Amino acid sequence: MLIRQNVALAPLTTLGVGGPARFFVEALTEAEVIEAVEFARSRQLPLFVLGGGSNLVVSDAGFAGLVLRVGIADVSNCTAPNGVVIFDAGAGFDWDALVAQTVDAGCAGMECLSGIPGTVGGTPVQNVGAYGQEVSETIQEVRVLDSQSLQIKTLSNADCSFTYRSSIFNTTERGHYIILRVSFTLRPGGKPNLHYADLQKFFANRPGEPTLAEARMAVREIRRGKAMLIVPGDQDARSVGSFFKNPIVEQSFFEQLSERLRSRALQLPSYPAADGFRKLPAAWLVEHAGFSKGYVKGAAGISHQHALAIVNRGDATAADIIALKDEIQSHVFDEFGIELRAEPVLVGF
Ligand SMILES: Cc1cc2nc3c(=O)[nH]c(=O)nc-3n(C[C@H](O)[C@H](O)[C@H](O)COP(=O)(O)OP(=O)(O)OC[C@H]3O[C@@H](n4cnc5c(N)ncnc54)[C@H](O)[C@@H]3O)c2cc1C
Repeated sequence: MLIRQNVALAPLTTLGVGGPARFFVEALTEAEVIEAVEFARSRQLPLFVLGGGSNLVVSDAGFAGLVLRVGIADVSNCTAPNGVVIFDAGAGFDWDALVAQTVDAGCAGMECLSGIPGTVGGTPVQNVGAYGQEVSETIQEVRVLDSQSLQIKTLSNADCSFTYRSSIFNTTERGHYIILRVSFTLRPGGKPNLHYADLQKFFANRPGEPTLAEARMAVREIRRGKAMLIVPGDQDARSVGSFFKNPIVEQSFFEQLSERLRSRALQLPSYPAADGFRKLPAAWLVEHAGFSKGYVKGAAGISHQHALAIVNRGDATAADIIALKDEIQSHVFDEFGIELRAEPVLVGF
């Protein structure tokens, strides 16, 4: 196992900002993951686990510890006695390639998660979701290394406490577990999930029932139109996807805010959430706080296609990205009294 020093992290992220890792290692087996943790522990170095780098902002100072990339990247599938198909993939396997495999095998359950960058191991962390599906709907088990006891454990779906963009991995147990493998339960011969409005619109005037492959193609097409599919050379490609989570507010707060905005001839959109709560589209709040698509602030900006995506316009620093994030959060708070929460993980700040 090769431990390298002062490795640039910016090229290992989709946003492309930030300084180097003091130490960097790619672990290709479970034994190497354990070895890497022992290395960090013996030198009292902080440890950061890197996946595909698609949900990270690395500070300009970089990370003064060991960055461990889990490169376990095998995949297999089998049919369970009850007829479902279990796909089992190493944490380092490319997420979209796994979705493609499930669709090619005629298995439903993750077709709407097509085109999301990153690795299999990154998906449980924020319970990745898009177009009416969340990865928690198909995750069966997550195999992890407990970074404190160095024991390997298998967590059930329930153990992970998945909710909207959240799990134990980014809340109560942050930094505790290193994800080694994830297994998913898929429905062979199942129909695609086409509940999401954008997908219904896409297929509205097309004859016949869309197949899984057509649903995957549609999701990728819709994502491409919003610069949410990474297309090299696209001016909006350097991002972390949505920078802010959709806020969930109490019903009473929603009603008061709606009333206040009605007097300004504004209709506040919202979606159902848990009982007594409403989910608000962060993109609407950002745009109505004065940040239109294509907004420019030095080397950082907002995507031309998607109001929630902060982009590196070429040579942005992490400080540029954070300054724009802060500006947006402060304007949204002044305008609506809502604190927007950032979705990406901040590393080395
Ligand atoms: C263009 C674009 C579109 C996107 N669209 C969506 C979307 O539609 N829906 C959505 O939910 N997200 C979206 N994202 C965000 C991102 O792609 C996902 O969150 C993805 O799952 C992150 O995986 P990763 O492997 O890149 O993780 P990284 O960005 O490398 O890491 C993210 C977090 O996961 C942790 N982590 C990663 N691997 C492991 C592991 N093996 N063990 C323990 N912890 C680990 C890291 O420590 C970090 O805390 C988008 C991003 C981009 C750039």
